[in-house]
Amino acid sequence: MKHPYIPYGRQCIDEEDIQAVVEVLKSDYLTTGPKIQEFEEKVAAYVGCKYTVAIANGTAALHAACYAADINTGDEVITTPLTFAATSNSILYLGGKPIFADINADTYNIDPQEIEKKITNKTKALIAVDFAGQPAELFKIKALAEKHDLIFIEDAAHSLGAEIMDSKKTWHKVGSIADMTTFSFHPVKHITTAEGGMICTNNPKLYEKLLLFRSHGITRSPKLLMDKTHGTWFYEQQLLGYNYRLSDIQAALGISQLKKLDTFIKRRREIATIYNKAFSENSFRDKVTIPFQIENSKSSYHIYILKLKPSSIGKNRNEIFNKLSNLNLGVNVHYIPVYYHPYYQSLGYSKGICPITEKIYEDIITIPLYPGMSDEDVDYVIKSIKEV
Ligand SMILES: *Cc1c(COP(=O)(O)O)cnc(C)c1O
Repeated sequence: MKHPYIPYGRQCIDEEDIQAVVEVLKSDYLTTGPKIQEFEEKVAAYVGCKYTVAIANGTAALHAACYAADINTGDEVITTPLTFAATSNSILYLGGKPIFADINADTYNIDPQEIEKKITNKTKALIAVDFAGQPAELFKIKALAEKHDLIFIEDAAHSLGAEIMDSKKTWHKVGSIADMTTFSFHPVKHITTAEGGMICTNNPKLYEKLLLFRSHGITRSPKLLMDKTHGTWFYEQQLLGYNYRLSDIQAALGISQLKKLDTFIKRRREIATIYNKAFSENSFRDKVTIPFQIENSKSSYHIYILKLKPSSIGKNRNEIFNKLSNLNLGVNVHYIPVYYHPYYQSLGYSKGICPITEKIYEDIITIPLYPGMSDEDVDYVIKSIKEV
């Protein structure tokens, strides 16, 4: 008998979440109502930033951030190739040019030294991803951005609740450091609203632009109107925005999920610790590399990645992947280097740009990790991997 399928990630929804959604369905506002502001305020308080904009999804959050960063045709934006395509797609939406900088071979996060090598007079912004939940070198990247007058966007789709220590040994949650930090609330992420996202910033000018961009570029705010002669009913479209609004149904789910975020993260860390121990036993040490945890940060473990050493295992990644799939484990690979995709190849990117990323891509495998996993699930994952 096969063990029931264990996905690599999944949501954790309880009765309280369901009730929160049902209440909104019975209320006056399904969208643009009070739950949006409440969700925004609660996320701002949680991460410790001044402004938050709830938005349709994590990709829309990145699109909005690139818009607010004033990315235009020909502008270069430096980012990591080891990410979901949405990160660099958001640059392309605005006519910008993604420039891929290689990653650090231990953390798999974008390497600040590689960023610096790629800065030109066309560079407008930097987008770092907190890979697998471990913050990128945010303070170094922030310093680089300040030095070269660039906007720093942090794609924190993996890292809600993660923390990083500054040079004065003060801990900060991600969301309070970059010029703009974006989150995703897709079901595999730390909390879910089905589809959903958020942008965090401390900059009032960026905040204003993000708000306009989310809703057609239209404002009703008397303070912002350019023409004040019409009347109280008047509104203006001041730029070309989108309908990227989140609904109140989703925001209510987000508020309810947020209450459980710290418990979710605790369980994610607990499972990661069990995996770390199991996969660093002597008999295993020459076969896999466990995630590298830097000292001045606390990962919130969106995903758990093992780097295989196929030569000492005697099997290649595909064989191992297929065997684990057959054991009903939802293994995955995060990620195919973005510029390998045919669309990026058609734009003129060629293989060889980021050799460290390309090498690591060959050997990584993502194994199941989500807060709803039982101890028995965790044991089954470990047992299966050891067997294979
Ligand atoms: C999930 C994810 C996104 C996109 O988020 P959506 O909410 O699915 O649009 C962007 N970047 C990274 C790194 C992600 O993991």
